[in-house]
Amino acid sequence: MKIALIAHDKKKNLMIDLAIKYKDVLAKHTLFATGTTGTLVMGETGLKITRMKSGPLGGDQQIGSMIADGLLDLVVFLRDPLTSQPHEPDVSALLRLCDVQNIPLATNVKSAEIMLTALKNNEI
Ligand code: PGA
Repeated sequence: MKIALIAHDKKKNLMIDLAIKYKDVLAKHTLFATGTTGTLVMGETGLKITRMKSGPLGGDQQIGSMIADGLLDLVVFLRDPLTSQPHEPDVSALLRLCDVQNIPLATNVKSAEIMLTALKNNEI
């Protein structure tokens, strides 16, 4: 499966913890991420990740474009609902495209854990 990982700044530590916890299952799939998220997760886990631009610099749009082209199967986007984002239109567009294309999308840690556990158990 092709999986995208994205985390807003205040959620990056949670994403790192998640990637460490599910490293074995994530390692079996093809991973993509926005720039900073990808750099941090790769640095902490050693997972191989294709990095897009940083989210605010177009990375969310690049991931969105992959979704529109049917190139992603699953998205984990740990968004921060309590901080306004300069690139909010890009964030909304990405979330919308997941719904348009019916792509599984986890926007918080518990949802992501359910998704990654299902993936680990070959239920997705
Ligand atoms: P980043 O982008 O991983 O480059 O920080 C995430 C985002 O803010 O969309």
